[in-house]
Amino acid sequence: MLFSPLFRLPARSGLLFSRWARTPAIPSSPAFVAPAGALRAQLRQGLGVLLLATSLTANAQGLLVKNALLITQKPGDEQAYFGYMRVGNDGRITAIAPGEAPAPQAGERVIDASGKFVAPGFISAHSHLFMSPLRGLGHTETLYGWGAAVSRLNNRATAEDIYWFTLHGSLDFLRNGITTAYDFTYSGAVGGQAVGVGEKVPPPSLKPGPFEENQLRAKSDAGLRFINSVGLPRVGTRSDMISRLEGLLAHAKSTYGRNPLYLGMAISGGLQRAPTRETAELEAHVMKTYDLMNQSHFLESPERVEEQQAKFAWYADAGALSPKFIFGHFIQTTPDLVRQAAAAGASMSWQPTSNSRLASGVADIVAYRAAGMKVAVGLDDQSCTDISDPFQNLRIGLALIRTKYKSAQALSVREMLYLHTLGSADVLGIADKVGSLEVGKYADFLIVDPRRPDTGPLHDAVATYVLACGLRNLEQVYVGGRLVADGLRLMTQDETRLRREIDDRISRLETEVRGLEGRTASVAPHPFAALLNP
Ligand SMILES: [Zn+2]
Repeated sequence: MLFSPLFRLPARSGLLFSRWARTPAIPSSPAFVAPAGALRAQLRQGLGVLLLATSLTANAQGLLVKNALLITQKPGDEQAYFGYMRVGNDGRITAIAPGEAPAPQAGERVIDASGKFVAPGFISAHSHLFMSPLRGLGHTETLYGWGAAVSRLNNRATAEDIYWFTLHGSLDFLRNGITTAYDFTYSGAVGGQAVGVGEKVPPPSLKPGPFEENQLRAKSDAGLRFINSVGLPRVGTRSDMISRLEGLLAHAKSTYGRNPLYLGMAISGGLQRAPTRETAELEAHVMKTYDLMNQSHFLESPERVEEQQAKFAWYADAGALSPKFIFGHFIQTTPDLVRQAAAAGASMSWQPTSNSRLASGVADIVAYRAAGMKVAVGLDDQSCTDISDPFQNLRIGLALIRTKYKSAQALSVREMLYLHTLGSADVLGIADKVGSLEVGKYADFLIVDPRRPDTGPLHDAVATYVLACGLRNLEQVYVGGRLVADGLRLMTQDETRLRREIDDRISRLETEVRGLEGRTASVAPHPFAALLNP
């Protein structure tokens, strides 16, 4: 038999075999159809892009997922098991257990997941969603050259552009099975970036907003769960910088404080691009004063490594290093820096796909974990990760570490999956809400069909999920029990409108930039533009 012992555990193993041998399509219950119908009706009425929260809330009922092969990621659940999951009206899991599902309650939606994995939505612990429409740029460059390539257009983007770009990135995440993101937002700052210690650069300037407010709204409109991480642009006095942050914290709390998609605010540490230690001191101050987590891009690029490493002491001296501090990337380390970071309780976020694309190097997460650092995993921005594919990210991560160590045991498939789900939730301080399928947590889950396309019999279910499944097997994505992506179809927004907005805005930016550059060539339309935007 090619089935793991688990599949033969229940009394009706023959029944299980027949379940897993067949792969019936998930039936569309009337409750599934209603939101899509509501969207179409709204669009026909010319209301444009509308968030479906109202109609979805109106239709809110319990949900029962039965006959699933559950990969819960609950500590102790090493193996997948056959069972069911029940979701309450508030979008949280009320029951999850092995075996046959109980009879559905009155009004409860039922999903028959026969033959399919039901697993937690992925968490991206490091993302820049506004950069989603800037893919394929700077592909011959490492970090700084790539940054220049994307800044060329981004520096001209307006706050409204950034709303649409963030919406694009958020929906892209959802469709690919990433249900929670730590999002580094764009402050609207232009320039002022330095690599070296004391490097002289013109001061940054701030474009008129509201950039930050629009990015919060875009993620909420998309239906993505998120931590919103804002920068502290070095514009004006220290008190100007603090009062801008206070304004944002107040806005986020008053507007999203009761929105279950909103998981809090954080700051985006900026020392990697800052020339003086005042940046570290300000970050340490606001972390303590406002009890904020800080994720800071650090030791990412293999260029000018000594200059980057010299800034580590600025964070240490300022008292910023703590369990609330996350190093983003943290590749160009030394054993001493790792020891100091671990001793302070700091953690790190690892971006395997981005690090490969930008030739940044391999973060030695085996050494970091051995030293006591927690590790999260992110997809980074779509302009240097290109496909926000968490399955690919798992496999690139495994490939990097196993190749580095020349050992197939350096990192297991179960550890890798943990890092991209519950491990990331743990680092981000949200493990009580997301990261695993457990009673009380949000029902953010994926339905993945290993038989469509067919990956063969399941010898080790978790290994098949991590190594053999991909976006092509991803059938549906749920956030809080709400269907947000049904195959390629987005359920929360009108993709035709979205695509038109993105194409028009990027085309406009390209025209503006070419004008500034003195280039006369017209912008070539997308070859399918006429088909996409009839
Ligand atoms: Zn990043």
